Amino acid sequence: SDVITVGELAKRMGVKSKDLITELMRQGQMVTINHPLDYETAAILASEFNYEVENVAFDEEHVLTDDAVITDESGSDEGAIPRPPVVTIMGHVDHGKTSLLDAIRATNVTSGEAGGITQHIGAYDVTVNGRKITFLDTPGHEAFTSMRARGAKVTDIVVLVVAADDGVMPQTKEAINHSKAAGVPIIVAINKMDKPDANPDRVKQELTEFEMVPEDWGGDTIFVEVSAKTTANLDSLLEMILLQAEVLELKANPHKRAKGAIVEARLDRGRGPVATVLVEEGTLRIGDPIVSGLHYGRVRTMTNDRGDRLEEAGPSCPVEVTGLSGTPVAGDTFHAVESEKVAKDVATHRQRKIREQELATTSKISLEQLYARL
Ligand code: GDP
Ligand code: MG
Repeated sequence: SDVITVGELAKRMGVKSKDLITELMRQGQMVTINHPLDYETAAILASEFNYEVENVAFDEEHVLTDDAVITDESGSDEGAIPRPPVVTIMGHVDHGKTSLLDAIRATNVTSGEAGGITQHIGAYDVTVNGRKITFLDTPGHEAFTSMRARGAKVTDIVVLVVAADDGVMPQTKEAINHSKAAGVPIIVAINKMDKPDANPDRVKQELTEFEMVPEDWGGDTIFVEVSAKTTANLDSLLEMILLQAEVLELKANPHKRAKGAIVEARLDRGRGPVATVLVEEGTLRIGDPIVSGLHYGRVRTMTNDRGDRLEEAGPSCPVEVTGLSGTPVAGDTFHAVESEKVAKDVATHRQRKIREQELATTSKISLEQLYARL
């Protein structure tokens, strides 16, 4: 049940905390200003001061699992429809994760798009034969593990990069373990095929130890031999990702209030809190009231990694958002809600819960201190 501190109650009633504490003493309760009061006590106390207390229980779950269908102008709602896959690239240090992400982005940005200038926002999407793929380009392991730790399952497919001249290394194994634990399918990209000492068969051999066997050896793991340096075979890698996505039958309903995950967040000197969000379901629009963790606000601007201003972002679309009251935490979820008031209520409720938890531990001590002084 909801509780309120003596100090908070006094403030809301417009009386001095000292007077409330005196009244509580009269009733035989020794309390401090930070003492949490339950609803019953608060109600009795308030009535002594001629107030009536209304206990409005706050049901966060109910507010956030709002299933309202928000249709577009056409008014259509065909339910869940196919959405682009979200891909994380993982692998041992120096095996070419960053190079691969850069090469994929560079070869798939059509010239003329915002002058070709791209910026790092933690995620980007490319279009391959009219179909989109979203890549998370926050440092693979951290993004993946921190998001998983916070309950966000944002990755559909892992591309495991293994350098053809180096083979399976400790972080390769780590990446396999993380992916398997999360139940995310793995596509192996054997990188640095341009190197004279490239040995893809050795990589394949080493990976059989992890039950990852290529199709031409009788298994069902997809292997693609690429070079981030020469861009050789990157198109096949993208095709394989799309093929795997089809098998997974990834779907989401765009005709809902948006919800998703924070990919990255920072405080920008000019623009205030800036967060890259990945929409998992629904469609996020300019002006939408949103809440993430302890912060809320309205979507003021949405920008992609090419610097394009967007009006809306549907499922699997990564965008940089401004308009939040504070900087959210990467890996946290975000929700678009009915109104800014609801967003604020959710954030305030969460802030109060945290404060109450802190008070629950500190008030004991202060109570003892109070008795010690008496
Ligand atoms: P990361 O640590 O996995 O992100 O690896 P990087 O992308 O930073 O690459 C590490 C080094 O390998 C850099 O010097 C890259 O230039 C080099 N590299 C990456 N991909 C290739 C490739 O396909 N061929 C060659 N020859 N070098 C590559
Ligand atoms: Mg890197």
